[in-house]
Amino acid sequence: MCERNVLRNMKTISLIGSTGSIGTQTLDVCRKHGIKVNALAANSNTALLEAQAREFSVNAVCIFDKTRYGDMKSRLADTDIKVLSGMDGLCNIAASGEHDLFVNSVVGMVGLLPTLTAINAGTDIALANKETLVAGGQLVMSSAAGKGVRIFPIDSEHSAIFQCLQGNKHEQMKKIILTASGGPFFGKKKKDLENVTVEQALDHPNWSMGNKITIDSATLMNKGLEFIEAHWLFGVAPENIEIVVNRESVLHSAVEFNDNSVIGQMGVPDMKIPIQYAILYPERFECDVKPLSFTDYGTLTFAKPDYETFDCLRSCIEAIKRGGAYPCIVNAVNEEAVRLFLEKKISFLDIGRAVSDSLSAFGHMPADSYEDIEKADRMAREFLKKLFE
Ligand code: MG
Repeated sequence: MCERNVLRNMKTISLIGSTGSIGTQTLDVCRKHGIKVNALAANSNTALLEAQAREFSVNAVCIFDKTRYGDMKSRLADTDIKVLSGMDGLCNIAASGEHDLFVNSVVGMVGLLPTLTAINAGTDIALANKETLVAGGQLVMSSAAGKGVRIFPIDSEHSAIFQCLQGNKHEQMKKIILTASGGPFFGKKKKDLENVTVEQALDHPNWSMGNKITIDSATLMNKGLEFIEAHWLFGVAPENIEIVVNRESVLHSAVEFNDNSVIGQMGVPDMKIPIQYAILYPERFECDVKPLSFTDYGTLTFAKPDYETFDCLRSCIEAIKRGGAYPCIVNAVNEEAVRLFLEKKISFLDIGRAVSDSLSAFGHMPADSYEDIEKADRMAREFLKKLFE
Protein backbone atom coordinates (compact mmCIF):
# COMPACT_ATOMS: atom_id res chain seq x y z
CA MET A 1 0.00 0.00 0.00
CA CYS A 2 1.40 3.43 -0.80
CA GLU A 3 2.13 5.86 2.02
CA ARG A 4 -0.75 8.12 1.12
CA ASN A 5 -3.28 5.29 1.39
CA VAL A 6 -2.01 4.31 4.82
CA LEU A 7 -2.79 7.83 6.02
CA ARG A 8 -5.96 8.58 4.12
CA ASN A 9 -8.27 7.17 6.75
CA MET A 10 -5.94 7.80 9.58
CA LYS A 11 -5.50 11.44 10.45
CA THR A 12 -7.39 14.68 10.57
CA ILE A 13 -5.78 17.66 12.23
CA SER A 14 -6.87 21.08 13.44
CA LEU A 15 -4.19 23.75 13.38
CA ILE A 16 -3.99 27.05 15.24
CA GLY A 17 -1.33 29.50 14.12
CA SER A 18 -1.74 28.38 10.50
CA THR A 19 -0.34 31.47 8.76
CA GLY A 20 2.97 31.58 10.69
CA SER A 21 6.23 29.86 9.82
CA ILE A 22 5.40 26.54 11.54
CA GLY A 23 1.75 26.74 10.44
CA THR A 24 2.47 27.09 6.73
CA GLN A 25 5.07 24.31 6.88
CA THR A 26 2.56 22.10 8.71
CA LEU A 27 0.15 22.61 5.81
CA ASP A 28 2.98 21.72 3.37
CA VAL A 29 3.22 18.38 5.20
CA CYS A 30 -0.58 17.92 5.05
CA ARG A 31 -0.58 18.72 1.32
CA LYS A 32 2.21 16.25 0.61
CA HIS A 33 0.70 13.37 2.56
CA GLY A 34 -3.01 13.98 2.02
CA ILE A 35 -3.77 14.73 5.66
CA LYS A 36 -7.23 16.22 6.25
CA VAL A 37 -7.64 19.53 8.03
CA ASN A 38 -10.73 20.16 10.15
CA ALA A 39 -10.12 23.71 11.31
CA LEU A 40 -7.56 26.52 11.05
CA ALA A 41 -6.82 29.63 13.08
CA ALA A 42 -4.65 32.69 12.55
CA ASN A 43 -3.97 35.92 14.37
CA SER A 44 -4.65 38.56 11.70
CA ASN A 45 -3.78 37.41 8.18
CA THR A 46 -7.31 37.06 6.74
CA ALA A 47 -6.19 36.72 3.10
CA LEU A 48 -3.91 33.75 3.74
CA LEU A 49 -6.35 32.14 6.17
CA GLU A 50 -9.08 32.36 3.52
CA ALA A 51 -6.84 30.74 0.89
CA GLN A 52 -5.85 27.94 3.31
CA ALA A 53 -9.48 27.36 4.36
CA ARG A 54 -10.60 27.01 0.74
CA GLU A 55 -7.69 24.77 -0.27
CA PHE A 56 -8.21 22.33 2.61
CA SER A 57 -12.05 22.58 2.64
CA VAL A 58 -12.09 23.05 6.39
CA ASN A 59 -15.17 23.07 8.59
CA ALA A 60 -14.19 26.11 10.64
CA VAL A 61 -11.72 28.98 10.88
CA CYS A 62 -10.88 31.33 13.72
CA ILE A 63 -9.45 34.81 13.24
CA PHE A 64 -8.00 35.70 16.63
CA ASP A 65 -8.07 39.48 16.12
CA LYS A 66 -11.75 40.28 16.69
CA THR A 67 -11.59 43.49 14.65
CA ARG A 68 -11.04 41.33 11.55
CA TYR A 69 -14.00 39.04 12.16
CA GLY A 70 -16.27 40.96 9.74
CA ASP A 71 -13.65 40.83 6.99
CA MET A 72 -13.13 37.09 7.52
CA LYS A 73 -16.87 36.41 7.53
CA SER A 74 -17.42 38.23 4.23
CA ARG A 75 -14.45 36.53 2.59
CA LEU A 76 -16.03 33.12 3.27
CA ALA A 77 -19.67 34.19 2.79
CA ASP A 78 -20.11 31.89 -0.22
CA THR A 79 -18.99 28.81 1.75
CA ASP A 80 -20.33 26.69 4.64
CA ILE A 81 -17.18 27.33 6.65
CA LYS A 82 -17.93 28.42 10.22
CA VAL A 83 -16.11 31.63 11.18
CA LEU A 84 -15.00 32.13 14.80
CA SER A 85 -12.84 34.72 16.56
CA GLY A 86 -10.88 35.48 19.72
CA MET A 87 -9.82 33.11 22.48
CA ASP A 88 -13.32 31.58 22.49
CA GLY A 89 -12.81 30.64 18.85
CA LEU A 90 -9.41 29.01 19.52
CA CYS A 91 -10.87 27.04 22.42
CA ASN A 92 -13.93 26.10 20.40
CA ILE A 93 -11.61 24.50 17.83
CA ALA A 94 -9.51 22.86 20.55
CA ALA A 95 -12.61 21.35 22.16
CA SER A 96 -14.36 20.23 18.97
CA GLY A 97 -13.04 16.68 18.91
CA GLU A 98 -13.47 16.60 15.12
CA HIS A 99 -9.80 15.80 14.65
CA ASP A 100 -7.25 13.19 15.74
CA LEU A 101 -4.54 15.72 16.49
CA PHE A 102 -4.58 19.34 17.64
CA VAL A 103 -1.57 21.26 16.31
CA ASN A 104 -0.71 24.35 18.35
CA SER A 105 1.73 26.67 16.61
CA VAL A 106 0.66 30.05 17.95
CA VAL A 107 3.29 32.33 19.46
CA GLY A 108 3.25 33.25 23.15
CA MET A 109 1.30 32.64 26.31
CA VAL A 110 -1.95 32.88 24.31
CA GLY A 111 -1.38 29.21 23.38
CA LEU A 112 -1.84 27.89 26.92
CA LEU A 113 -5.63 27.89 27.23
CA PRO A 114 -6.25 26.17 23.86
CA THR A 115 -3.70 23.50 24.88
CA LEU A 116 -5.49 22.89 28.18
CA THR A 117 -8.83 22.81 26.36
CA ALA A 118 -7.60 20.18 23.90
CA ILE A 119 -6.24 18.11 26.79
CA ASN A 120 -9.61 18.25 28.54
CA ALA A 121 -11.25 17.05 25.34
CA GLY A 122 -8.82 14.08 25.37
CA THR A 123 -7.12 15.07 22.10
CA ASP A 124 -3.45 14.36 21.37
CA ILE A 125 -1.43 17.50 20.73
CA ALA A 126 1.47 18.40 18.44
CA LEU A 127 3.04 21.32 20.25
CA ALA A 128 5.14 24.09 18.74
CA ASN A 129 3.95 26.71 21.25
CA LYS A 130 6.79 26.49 23.78
CA GLU A 131 5.31 29.14 26.07
CA THR A 132 2.53 26.64 26.88
CA LEU A 133 5.01 24.43 28.73
CA VAL A 134 7.14 27.25 30.06
CA ALA A 135 4.27 29.08 31.74
CA GLY A 136 2.09 26.09 32.59
CA GLY A 137 4.39 23.06 32.55
CA GLN A 138 3.21 21.49 35.78
CA LEU A 139 -0.48 21.99 34.97
CA VAL A 140 -0.20 20.90 31.34
CA MET A 141 1.80 17.73 32.03
CA SER A 142 -0.36 16.61 34.97
CA SER A 143 -3.59 17.32 33.04
CA ALA A 144 -2.27 15.43 30.01
CA ALA A 145 -1.24 12.46 32.17
CA GLY A 146 -4.67 12.46 33.82
CA LYS A 147 -6.44 12.35 30.46
CA GLY A 148 -3.99 9.98 28.77
CA VAL A 149 -3.22 12.67 26.19
CA ARG A 150 0.07 12.47 24.29
CA ILE A 151 2.09 15.60 23.54
CA PHE A 152 4.28 15.37 20.45
CA PRO A 153 6.96 18.07 20.42
CA ILE A 154 7.46 20.07 17.24
CA ASP A 155 10.39 22.13 18.52
CA SER A 156 13.41 20.61 16.73
CA GLU A 157 15.41 19.95 19.93
CA HIS A 158 12.55 18.29 21.74
CA SER A 159 11.59 16.30 18.68
CA ALA A 160 15.23 15.13 18.61
CA ILE A 161 15.10 14.05 22.27
CA PHE A 162 11.75 12.34 21.67
CA GLN A 163 13.24 10.51 18.67
CA CYS A 164 16.34 9.46 20.68
CA LEU A 165 14.07 7.91 23.31
CA GLN A 166 12.23 5.66 20.86
CA GLY A 167 12.99 2.05 21.71
CA ASN A 168 14.80 3.04 24.90
CA LYS A 169 13.64 3.06 28.49
CA HIS A 170 12.84 6.57 29.58
CA GLU A 171 13.97 5.86 33.15
CA GLN A 172 17.41 4.77 31.88
CA MET A 173 18.07 8.22 30.47
CA LYS A 174 20.82 9.90 32.50
CA LYS A 175 21.01 13.28 30.87
CA ILE A 176 19.65 15.43 28.07
CA ILE A 177 22.14 17.21 25.83
CA LEU A 178 20.19 20.19 24.51
CA THR A 179 21.93 21.75 21.55
CA ALA A 180 21.94 25.43 20.60
CA SER A 181 23.12 27.21 17.47
CA GLY A 182 24.54 30.02 19.59
CA GLY A 183 22.55 32.52 17.52
CA PRO A 184 23.85 35.43 15.44
CA PHE A 185 25.90 36.87 18.34
CA PHE A 186 27.90 33.79 19.33
CA GLY A 187 31.33 34.78 20.67
CA LYS A 188 30.26 38.37 21.36
CA LYS A 189 30.47 40.00 24.78
CA LYS A 190 28.06 42.51 26.33
CA LYS A 191 30.14 45.49 25.22
CA ASP A 192 29.80 44.28 21.61
CA LEU A 193 26.01 44.05 21.90
CA GLU A 194 25.15 47.53 23.16
CA ASN A 195 24.13 48.90 19.79
CA VAL A 196 22.60 45.82 18.15
CA THR A 197 19.82 46.79 15.75
CA VAL A 198 16.53 44.96 15.18
CA GLU A 199 17.75 44.04 11.69
CA GLN A 200 20.97 42.48 13.01
CA ALA A 201 19.08 40.52 15.66
CA LEU A 202 16.63 39.22 13.05
CA ASP A 203 19.44 37.81 10.89
CA HIS A 204 19.79 34.21 12.15
CA PRO A 205 22.67 32.16 10.67
CA ASN A 206 20.89 28.76 10.34
CA TRP A 207 17.16 28.86 10.89
CA SER A 208 14.45 30.81 9.11
CA MET A 209 11.71 31.54 11.67
CA GLY A 210 9.14 34.10 12.87
CA ASN A 211 10.28 37.41 14.40
CA LYS A 212 9.63 36.62 18.07
CA ILE A 213 11.57 33.36 18.09
CA THR A 214 14.38 34.87 16.02
CA ILE A 215 14.94 37.60 18.63
CA ASP A 216 14.68 34.91 21.33
CA SER A 217 17.42 33.01 19.49
CA ALA A 218 19.65 36.08 19.43
CA THR A 219 19.28 36.66 23.20
CA LEU A 220 19.43 32.87 23.88
CA MET A 221 16.07 33.26 25.64
CA ASN A 222 14.88 30.64 23.18
CA LYS A 223 17.34 28.12 24.61
CA GLY A 224 16.28 29.07 28.11
CA LEU A 225 12.63 28.46 27.22
CA GLU A 226 13.61 25.16 25.61
CA PHE A 227 15.52 24.16 28.75
CA ILE A 228 12.30 24.61 30.75
CA GLU A 229 10.28 22.88 28.03
CA ALA A 230 12.65 19.87 28.11
CA HIS A 231 12.37 19.64 31.89
CA TRP A 232 8.58 19.34 31.69
CA LEU A 233 8.28 17.21 28.57
CA PHE A 234 10.76 14.57 29.65
CA GLY A 235 10.67 14.87 33.45
CA VAL A 236 14.43 15.50 33.70
CA ALA A 237 15.83 17.60 36.57
CA PRO A 238 17.54 20.88 35.59
CA GLU A 239 20.92 19.51 36.82
CA ASN A 240 20.63 16.75 34.21
CA ILE A 241 20.13 18.99 31.20
CA GLU A 242 23.34 20.21 29.57
CA ILE A 243 23.29 22.91 26.92
CA VAL A 244 25.91 22.50 24.19
CA VAL A 245 26.43 24.88 21.28
CA ASN A 246 26.62 23.17 17.89
CA ARG A 247 27.22 26.06 15.51
CA GLU A 248 26.09 24.16 12.43
CA SER A 249 22.67 23.16 13.90
CA VAL A 250 23.12 19.62 12.61
CA LEU A 251 22.92 17.75 15.92
CA HIS A 252 19.43 18.71 17.06
CA SER A 253 19.92 17.29 20.58
CA ALA A 254 20.99 14.03 22.20
CA VAL A 255 20.31 11.77 25.15
CA GLU A 256 22.93 10.15 27.37
CA PHE A 257 21.87 6.86 28.92
CA ASN A 258 23.04 5.11 32.09
CA ASP A 259 25.74 3.19 30.19
CA ASN A 260 27.19 6.52 28.89
CA SER A 261 26.01 5.72 25.41
CA VAL A 262 24.86 8.91 23.68
CA ILE A 263 22.16 8.82 21.02
CA GLY A 264 21.68 11.97 19.00
CA GLN A 265 19.34 12.98 16.18
CA MET A 266 20.78 14.78 13.18
CA GLY A 267 19.64 16.35 9.97
CA VAL A 268 19.86 19.58 8.03
CA PRO A 269 18.30 22.51 9.95
CA ASP A 270 14.77 22.38 8.54
CA MET A 271 11.59 22.36 10.62
CA LYS A 272 9.79 20.08 8.16
CA ILE A 273 11.39 17.02 9.75
CA PRO A 274 10.18 17.63 13.34
CA ILE A 275 6.78 18.88 12.11
CA GLN A 276 6.24 15.80 9.98
CA TYR A 277 7.41 13.43 12.72
CA ALA A 278 5.00 14.99 15.23
CA ILE A 279 2.08 14.68 12.82
CA LEU A 280 2.81 11.29 11.29
CA TYR A 281 4.30 9.62 14.39
CA PRO A 282 5.42 6.85 14.43
CA GLU A 283 5.71 6.79 10.63
CA ARG A 284 8.75 8.06 8.74
CA PHE A 285 7.67 8.96 5.25
CA GLU A 286 9.48 10.89 2.54
CA CYS A 287 10.05 14.52 3.50
CA ASP A 288 10.86 17.53 1.31
CA VAL A 289 14.21 18.37 2.88
CA LYS A 290 17.79 17.95 1.72
CA PRO A 291 19.53 14.78 2.93
CA LEU A 292 22.33 15.42 5.42
CA SER A 293 25.82 15.14 3.93
CA PHE A 294 28.53 14.88 6.59
CA THR A 295 31.25 15.43 4.03
CA ASP A 296 29.66 18.70 2.82
CA TYR A 297 29.96 19.97 6.39
CA GLY A 298 33.42 18.43 7.00
CA THR A 299 33.50 19.55 10.64
CA LEU A 300 30.96 19.90 13.39
CA THR A 301 31.93 22.23 16.23
CA PHE A 302 30.81 22.19 19.85
CA ALA A 303 31.17 24.78 22.61
CA LYS A 304 29.80 25.81 25.98
CA PRO A 305 27.23 28.60 26.04
CA ASP A 306 28.22 31.99 27.47
CA TYR A 307 25.98 32.46 30.52
CA GLU A 308 27.64 35.77 31.45
CA THR A 309 26.79 37.56 28.23
CA PHE A 310 23.37 36.03 27.70
CA ASP A 311 21.35 37.00 30.78
CA CYS A 312 18.15 35.45 29.43
CA LEU A 313 19.60 31.95 29.31
CA ARG A 314 20.95 32.14 32.85
CA SER A 315 17.66 33.61 34.13
CA CYS A 316 15.52 30.84 32.61
CA ILE A 317 17.62 28.15 34.28
CA GLU A 318 17.40 30.01 37.57
CA ALA A 319 13.63 30.36 37.09
CA ILE A 320 12.97 26.63 36.64
CA LYS A 321 15.26 25.79 39.57
CA ARG A 322 13.23 28.14 41.77
CA GLY A 323 9.96 26.71 40.42
CA GLY A 324 6.44 28.05 40.99
CA ALA A 325 5.50 30.93 38.71
CA TYR A 326 9.08 32.07 38.02
CA PRO A 327 9.21 30.47 34.54
CA CYS A 328 5.88 32.12 33.71
CA ILE A 329 7.24 35.48 34.92
CA VAL A 330 10.46 35.41 32.88
CA ASN A 331 8.47 34.34 29.83
CA ALA A 332 5.93 37.16 30.15
CA VAL A 333 8.61 39.80 30.78
CA ASN A 334 10.51 38.55 27.75
CA GLU A 335 7.41 38.59 25.50
CA GLU A 336 6.75 42.24 26.36
CA ALA A 337 10.44 43.22 26.15
CA VAL A 338 10.82 41.61 22.72
CA ARG A 339 7.75 43.49 21.51
CA LEU A 340 9.28 46.79 22.71
CA PHE A 341 12.63 45.94 21.12
CA LEU A 342 10.95 45.15 17.78
CA GLU A 343 9.18 48.52 18.06
CA LYS A 344 12.67 50.05 18.62
CA LYS A 345 11.67 51.40 22.05
CA ILE A 346 14.31 49.57 24.12
CA SER A 347 17.80 48.24 23.41
CA PHE A 348 18.84 44.65 22.77
CA LEU A 349 20.57 44.34 26.15
CA ASP A 350 17.49 45.77 27.90
CA ILE A 351 15.68 42.49 27.14
CA GLY A 352 18.15 40.44 29.19
CA ARG A 353 18.33 43.04 31.94
CA ALA A 354 14.54 43.07 32.32
CA VAL A 355 14.28 39.27 32.39
CA SER A 356 17.07 39.07 34.96
CA ASP A 357 15.56 41.88 37.11
CA SER A 358 12.18 40.15 37.19
CA LEU A 359 13.68 37.27 39.18
CA SER A 360 14.54 39.56 42.08
CA ALA A 361 11.37 41.66 41.74
CA PHE A 362 8.97 38.82 42.55
CA GLY A 363 8.63 36.50 45.52
CA HIS A 364 7.50 32.91 45.18
CA MET A 365 4.06 32.52 43.58
CA PRO A 366 2.23 29.27 42.76
CA ALA A 367 1.54 28.07 39.20
CA ASP A 368 -0.84 25.24 40.02
CA SER A 369 -3.96 26.48 38.24
CA TYR A 370 -4.71 28.47 35.10
CA GLU A 371 -5.78 31.37 37.36
CA ASP A 372 -2.40 31.30 39.17
CA ILE A 373 -0.57 31.39 35.85
CA GLU A 374 -2.74 34.15 34.42
CA LYS A 375 -2.16 36.27 37.54
CA ALA A 376 1.64 35.84 37.47
CA ASP A 377 1.65 36.54 33.74
CA ARG A 378 -0.34 39.75 34.21
CA MET A 379 1.84 40.97 37.10
CA ALA A 380 5.01 40.28 35.11
CA ARG A 381 3.75 42.27 32.12
CA GLU A 382 2.83 45.19 34.40
CA PHE A 383 6.31 45.00 35.96
CA LEU A 384 7.92 45.27 32.53
CA LYS A 385 5.75 48.22 31.50
CA LYS A 386 6.70 50.14 34.66
CA LEU A 387 10.37 49.35 34.11
CA PHE A 388 10.46 51.25 30.80
CA GLU A 389 7.86 53.97 31.50
MG1 MG B 1 14.09 24.95 18.92
